[in-house]
Amino acid sequence: MTSRASSSTAYSEASGKLNNVDLYAVIGNPVAHSSSPLIHAAFARQTGQGMRYEAILAPEDAFAANVESFAQRGGKGLNVTVPFKLEACKLAHRLTERAEAAQAVNTLAFGHDGILGDNTDGAGLVGDIASNLQFPLQAARILLMGAGGAARGALLPLLQQRPRMLTIVNRTRSRANELQERFCSYGAVMSCDYADLQGQQFDLVINSTSASLKGELPPALPPGIFARGALAYDMMYGIGLTPFLQFAQEQGAARFVNGLGMLVEQAAESFFVWRGIRPKTAPVIEMLRSRTT
Ligand code: NDP
Repeated sequence: MTSRASSSTAYSEASGKLNNVDLYAVIGNPVAHSSSPLIHAAFARQTGQGMRYEAILAPEDAFAANVESFAQRGGKGLNVTVPFKLEACKLAHRLTERAEAAQAVNTLAFGHDGILGDNTDGAGLVGDIASNLQFPLQAARILLMGAGGAARGALLPLLQQRPRMLTIVNRTRSRANELQERFCSYGAVMSCDYADLQGQQFDLVINSTSASLKGELPPALPPGIFARGALAYDMMYGIGLTPFLQFAQEQGAARFVNGLGMLVEQAAESFFVWRGIRPKTAPVIEMLRSRTT
């Protein structure tokens, strides 16, 4: 069974348009917490695009059926969130290079030539760090904590910025090793255990583990891990500092930032894939920030 968060009126099954607007949605489970409808509504208003954006709660075993029914209603594009990013990758007929590398898809675009799968998470992360935060990634020593879907999406866009070294550390070492092997042709990347971090320093430490979601800290990083001027970035966002950002503050990181900017930037990248227009992200980040402080 599918539930759509927004109500639908006078919807034309044949054209996929409601009062001449194109239909988009975010699909996930859970999905009620998603800020994507709010963000895309703001982008559409700002750019004058005729769009309607829904939230679709799909049962875990019915992702493909829900995508199919959305496409039959004339839907033009989907954002895909937990736990469907891998399934979306298999479902797409064509993949962008970054989706192919990540083997995970967060954006589907429906066209006459089939379904395009893209992954905008990493571009969103890099956009937030490099443009919004003005943090130089070139030649930086980067530590990426975690080796799940978000880490996979981030690796290619991060390596394209030519850091001095990107080190992946993960609780389950084998997953970090797999990513290191898959991405080593794109740049300087290595993998290690948390215990191997003793005595090392990084300019940028990114928490892409889901530990913050449970209010937990990932395994403790050794003292002195943050280099002078270091940025601590938690992909997780919400109210107040996450446990990882609190730790970073105590350990002397110069800046500590949550993933709200990444969320808006990845949405803007999806919007561009669908509409060919880049919305301004700063006012939308500001709007969301004012709701979470
Ligand atoms: P996954 O479930 O795919 O991966 C989770 C990762 O976290 C794994 O590497 C896992 O390690 C690690 N992990 C979980 N708990 C702990 C712990 N207690 N200590 C150490 N490591 C732990 O999740 P995703 O990659 O999809 O998401 C990760 C985070 O990124 C989430 O907080 C999510 O909200 C955020 N995110 C934010 C986005 C944004 O736009 N801001 C976009 C996408 C994700 P192991 O392999 O050992 O299990």
